Amino acid sequence: MRLKGQIGFLFIFITLLVFNDLYAQNSSTKVQGMTLVIDPGHGGKDPGAEHRQANCMDEKHLNLRIALKLGDLLEKYFENLRIVYTRKTDKYVSLEDRVKIATANNADCFISLHINANEKSEVHGVQVHIHAKGYRKTERLAELINKELTERANRSSLGIFTYHDRKGHLFVLQNTSMTGVLVECGFLTNEKEEKFVNTDYGQDILASAIFRAFRSYAQEMKYNLRRHPISVYRVQIAASANKIPRTDKMFKKVGLKVHEYKDKKNLKFPYKYTVGRSLKSKDIQKLAQKVRKKGFPKAFIVKHNEYPE
Ligand SMILES: [Zn+2]
Repeated sequence: MRLKGQIGFLFIFITLLVFNDLYAQNSSTKVQGMTLVIDPGHGGKDPGAEHRQANCMDEKHLNLRIALKLGDLLEKYFENLRIVYTRKTDKYVSLEDRVKIATANNADCFISLHINANEKSEVHGVQVHIHAKGYRKTERLAELINKELTERANRSSLGIFTYHDRKGHLFVLQNTSMTGVLVECGFLTNEKEEKFVNTDYGQDILASAIFRAFRSYAQEMKYNLRRHPISVYRVQIAASANKIPRTDKMFKKVGLKVHEYKDKKNLKFPYKYTVGRSLKSKDIQKLAQKVRKKGFPKAFIVKHNEYPE
């Protein structure tokens, strides 16, 4: 994005942090769940950074794609995380309206998504912007996003930027403990990065890195977020009144890693032994057939609800 736009946006962005901080002080009774605002930068008449190469998209479209992918991952994972988007389509939303959306929804956290541009095509890497150091939650979220983007998503990073790094232009604001970050997911002016963010794969990588960072952040900050349970299928090969030792010939015969668990509800045969683990019942049906042929004719499929890690 152009420098002028960037300063303007960050001005509003920081204002948002203050509004939310004031609001947060009045809502300490709120213990259930959490509200996250996902803010895809630009939109409609404002394209943000424009595409350079053929078959590539302008920044506004890419921001939205990454934002929707991020929201999708979060919605599938968390049961009581409320996600509010500042836009879900290609429409223009003013910076003032983005602030209004976040404040009206009493957001706990704000993540803005952008893609950078620079006069020099060699400049590349992700950037995470925060207002200033010293705001523990914001700083931590920024660190985690930067870490996931570099270590797991393998992006190069220019680092975490505060208003000091940006040489001022922003208010020195006190008491901003509200979480808020702006992620620049690379440079459209860099050939490689423009190609990367224009692929579905690249957008997935970026979104999942931010997802993982947010998940760690929510855990660390002890937000009361519940995960959606998922159904997992396994093939049960045995149940026993007593623990079966690992050296038992049964384990050799099946030739697969055997999972043991204790079913406290079953008083007679609490120790259960299963093989395989899949989210798809079809896959596990095939495995059950194989296991039955291996000398476990009574093997059957069990379905458990598990919480993803
Ligand atoms: Zn932008």
